Amino acid sequence: GNEVRQFKLVLLRESAVGKSSLVLHFVTGQFLGFQESTIRAAFLTQTVCLDDTTVKFERWDTAGQEHCHSLAPMYCTGPWADIANEFFARAKSWVKELQRQASPNIVIALSGNKADIASKGAVDFQEAQSYAVDNSSLFVETSAKTSMNVNEIFMAIAKKLPKN
Ligand code: GDP
Ligand code: MG
Repeated sequence: GNEVRQFKLVLLRESAVGKSSLVLHFVTGQFLGFQESTIRAAFLTQTVCLDDTTVKFERWDTAGQEHCHSLAPMYCTGPWADIANEFFARAKSWVKELQRQASPNIVIALSGNKADIASKGAVDFQEAQSYAVDNSSLFVETSAKTSMNVNEIFMAIAKKLPKN
C-alpha cells in the first residue's frame, strides 16, 4: 500500500563532522561550505519511497554535540588520520551505549563522512565495515560535498527500519 511510516533520525555526535551537511544534501542537494547548514538542516524533512511503503524522516536531532575542546588537544590539530580514528573510537562507544539503552528496533548507521578529503591512513574501510557487520549496523563512506553515498546511506537506513 501507500502507507507512510514516520521515524525520527538522530545524528550523533561529534561537532563539525558534517551531520547537518549530510541532511542538507540529502534533502536539498546543496552543499554549503560553512556552518549555516546546521540551521538550515534543522527544519527539513524528507521522505524515502521504498517498494511497498514510504519512510518519512520527520526530525533530525543533532543536539548534544561534543565540541572540539572536549577532545585531547592533539586531535584537534593533529593529522586527519588521528582525528578520524579518534572519532571512530568515539562512535563505537556510542554504538555500545545505544545497544545497551535504546529500543532493540533501532537502526544504527555509521557514516565515514568527508570521504572526499579522507586520505590513506584514515579509518580503515575493512575494519569499519566488519565492525558494523559485527554490530548489526551499517557503515558507509559518504561525502556531503561530492554526493557520494548520501542518498544511499539514508536509503539503507530506511530499508532496515522495522515494518510495523
Ligand atoms: P556538524 O557540526 O556535524 O553538523 O557539521 P556541519 O554539517 O556543520 O559541517 C562542518 C563543516 O564541514 C562545514 O564547513 C561543512 O561544509 C564541512 N563538510 C561537511 N561535510 C563535508 C564533506 O563531506 N566533505 C567536506 N570536504 N567538507 C564537509
Ligand atoms: Mg550541525
